[in-house]
Amino acid sequence: MYKVAIVGAGPAGYFTAQALQNAQNDRLLFAIDMIERLPTPWGLVRSGVAPDHPKIKTVSKVFEKVAKEPNFRLFANVELGKDVSLRDLRDQYDVVILSTGASKGRKLGIPGEDLDNSLSAAEFVPWYNAHPDYVNTEADLSCDTAVVIGAGNVAMDVARILAIDPTELDSTDVAEHALLKLKQSKIRTVIICGRRGPEHAAFTAPELRDLAKLENTDVYINNKQIQDAIERANIAGEIEKDLKNNLEAMSLIAKHSKKSVERKLEIKFLATPIEFKGNNKIEEIVFAQNKVENGKVVSSGENFSIKCGLVISAIGYDSVEYPGITIENGRITNIAGHIEHNLYTTGWAKRGPTGVIGTNKSDSRDVVDLIVKNLKEPKVSEGITALLKSGHEVIDQLAWEKINASEVISGEIAGKPRVKEVDWKQLLSLGRS
Ligand code: NAP
Repeated sequence: MYKVAIVGAGPAGYFTAQALQNAQNDRLLFAIDMIERLPTPWGLVRSGVAPDHPKIKTVSKVFEKVAKEPNFRLFANVELGKDVSLRDLRDQYDVVILSTGASKGRKLGIPGEDLDNSLSAAEFVPWYNAHPDYVNTEADLSCDTAVVIGAGNVAMDVARILAIDPTELDSTDVAEHALLKLKQSKIRTVIICGRRGPEHAAFTAPELRDLAKLENTDVYINNKQIQDAIERANIAGEIEKDLKNNLEAMSLIAKHSKKSVERKLEIKFLATPIEFKGNNKIEEIVFAQNKVENGKVVSSGENFSIKCGLVISAIGYDSVEYPGITIENGRITNIAGHIEHNLYTTGWAKRGPTGVIGTNKSDSRDVVDLIVKNLKEPKVSEGITALLKSGHEVIDQLAWEKINASEVISGEIAGKPRVKEVDWKQLLSLGRS
């Protein structure tokens, strides 16, 4: 029996555990311990996926199935580097897999970026998703216009949450504190700004198509920008399927008749932010207007600016550094998931912040294949119980099930899938109940 520690109870961690379970046979058995810093598992499925996208969250059923297997144990409320060291874990386990994601928001590196009410999606998304560390994110929503920088799905999630009528979130598991604040929000115009053209946008088509269905918000895209992009893409050669779907979805939005409602969401392309201006607080963003020339995005030499009272940068994430690993281009230094000796990585920590939740399935399977190839004789060791201080409060699977049941019951009463608890101590106490 090989002892495996997976650090990080997000999608990558669970799909890695599942791949290990599936790789077992009469001669190959794994005892899997999943270690998680928070008192709750499920990672981005709990604190990243937008509350108005409940279908995506149903993947948690797969995670719970993995957790029900007899060779799986959850050790939540255990922090790597604080409660256990990476070196000790590596001594105690045959294999250690870091599935710790990428939680640090990338910076634009432009003047004024640190003005008040200039936030990163890495702070804003966990705020509205009830992450215990982000309850106090200071987002002032008393302005009329918000700008979201980046043309990816996170930018779209953030913009949608700001632009929709908050009553549309009543029946979701959005954080209670966020719903309250969103209901007082004065924001009526949200502008997403991508630095390249529509043909380079990182949105995916299902998310774009969802925008056209918003009931209380008009969505605007400049039709000429889309038709120009289609023309450029056609000149460049055969348009591949995903891009074709994206451009079609954007074209539909551009041509879609408007409801003439108060709430507006606009997607602008070819706009690179060059400066945030304001007196302590963000008031204006200066953009370089770009154009596409011979397939390359270049500045047109002209600037324009947008007045706004909130800006959220959603331009990607980096993995966080900790003792025993190095970070290269935002992810843990690794080759095909192998870091060194018995240390591996999966998910965003391995490949960077790309791909949807399902991408982790095949990715984790590939890393597990490599792990199986490299296995030596199993160690005789105690595992994590030898490392944790006596009295350390672990949220194990049973405790998590109590938290989960309590949240779901509160949700049933309120007509929501769940009401998330945000207070760390209260979460621990629910696990004890
Ligand atoms: P992303 O898809 O990589 O998009 C990042 C965006 O930021 C790109 O448009 C990028 O533009 C832009 N950007 C980067 N640096 C910039 C800079 N210095 N100035 C201006 N713009 C800059 O990242 P993400 O939106 O954080 O999403 C991460 C992953 O999660 C993606 O794979 C996404 O599909 C996935 N996700 C999926 C869902 C869903 O399925 N519903 C929801 C959320 C996230 P360039 O292309 O020009 O670099």
